[in-house]
Amino acid sequence: MERKNVWSLYDSSQLAELGRINERYKSCLDAGKTERECVELSIRMAQEAGYRDLQDVMAKGETLKSGDKVYAVCMSKMLALFRIGEEPISAGMNILGAHIDSPRIDVKQNPLYENEEFAYLDTHYYGGIKKYQWVAQPLALHGVVVKKDGTVTKVSIGEEEGDPVFVITDLLIHLAQEQMEKKASKVIEGEKLDLLIGNRPAEKVLDETSEPDQSSDNGGSGKKSDQVKANVLRLLKEKYDMDEEDFTSAELEIVPAGKARDCGLDRSMIISYGQDDRVCAFTSLFAMLDVTDAKRTGCCLLVDKEEIGSVGATGMHSKFFENTVAELIALTEGESELKVRRALANSRMLSSDVSAAYDPMFAEAFEKRSSAFFANGITFNKFTGSRGKSGSNDANAEYIAALRKAMDDAGVAYQFAELGRVDLGGGGTIAYIMANYGMEVIDSGVAVLNMHAPYEVTSKADVYEAVKGYRAFLKI
Ligand code: MN
Ligand code: MN
Repeated sequence: MERKNVWSLYDSSQLAELGRINERYKSCLDAGKTERECVELSIRMAQEAGYRDLQDVMAKGETLKSGDKVYAVCMSKMLALFRIGEEPISAGMNILGAHIDSPRIDVKQNPLYENEEFAYLDTHYYGGIKKYQWVAQPLALHGVVVKKDGTVTKVSIGEEEGDPVFVITDLLIHLAQEQMEKKASKVIEGEKLDLLIGNRPAEKVLDETSEPDQSSDNGGSGKKSDQVKANVLRLLKEKYDMDEEDFTSAELEIVPAGKARDCGLDRSMIISYGQDDRVCAFTSLFAMLDVTDAKRTGCCLLVDKEEIGSVGATGMHSKFFENTVAELIALTEGESELKVRRALANSRMLSSDVSAAYDPMFAEAFEKRSSAFFANGITFNKFTGSRGKSGSNDANAEYIAALRKAMDDAGVAYQFAELGRVDLGGGGTIAYIMANYGMEVIDSGVAVLNMHAPYEVTSKADVYEAVKGYRAFLKI
């Protein structure tokens, strides 16, 4: 298949739409740096587009009909949107799926400690990262703290102008002779990824903000242990009404601080944290909200935990999606276990996740004829997996042919690729899990440079083609 860079094919109105979509995409990346933030943002956008909470529909005892739009949420971390089509749901849905969790560093449950007057948060990383990439740069803290009374406090520190940020330190090059001899996997070890969050003892702060108390001569420094930690705890109490024990029921994620930005003198690319897989998630969501009428029921499924195997209640292996479809069948065609199974088996899915973009700097890792190239459009992967396709979904040839036609008819640029050279590594997605229902599933998505690095790079043209491709898919 001939390669075709799409930039030269766009007219001015297409370039204008490309610009609008990418600006919107960047603002979504900035607002959604954790799975919870992505769900919250997506719900807000869906509500503005006329989507209603499925729980409300059920509570009111209403039924659903063609054209109705609903969403369902699982534990604030997984979201499914549905637009009921003209055909019954049991005839099958067109499903856009992507994941909204990204590689990052999580704060442990008993994290706060002081070492030589530095206060740290102990961490355990999440997903596949090159640990040495996460040191010596500004980091932000996002998440929630849940108190015993059920109060949920949102935390976001390091994104606003004027916010403090945090850092994981690296060893200075002058003393790194031994470190530099180590294997890359050992240069920075997992337990050394602790986040530096303070260096100022509690008493000093009090001295500065109040008049010196002449009577309390406590004999010089008055060094009690862990005064820096005590000061951090004081600040957490002030700002979040949080006690040290509340870390145990918190979900705090450490991510690179700062916003998504244009990349390149020609502004042809976007550099940002979390584009795996939010570049597919947000483009799928945009298409879902754009398409307001279609023959078949449309679904946009945004899942958590893909980076650690799609496990747990909010991962793709969860029964949440199947249960939600059962509720929808009950509200449209009447309760029927058989119709639920038919709905799932008759569905088609674009399981969208990022592809490894061909990188000339690492040409040896790729086989050119089966690589995804920037600005060559949405990528389809018949197979993923590793070592002889182990763990892969295999998209059916008949299904691929139907997608080729749909993409060609809608003027969408697309390419076929595998993840890197044979036997070099590999990866999985959520495709094989949905394929278990017997539905047609293909891996698709957007090519990314630097995948899983703190900052990943995509092509604006591919972001645009993805939205076009997803819109076309929802209409077939
Ligand atoms: Mn991914
Ligand atoms: Mn990934």
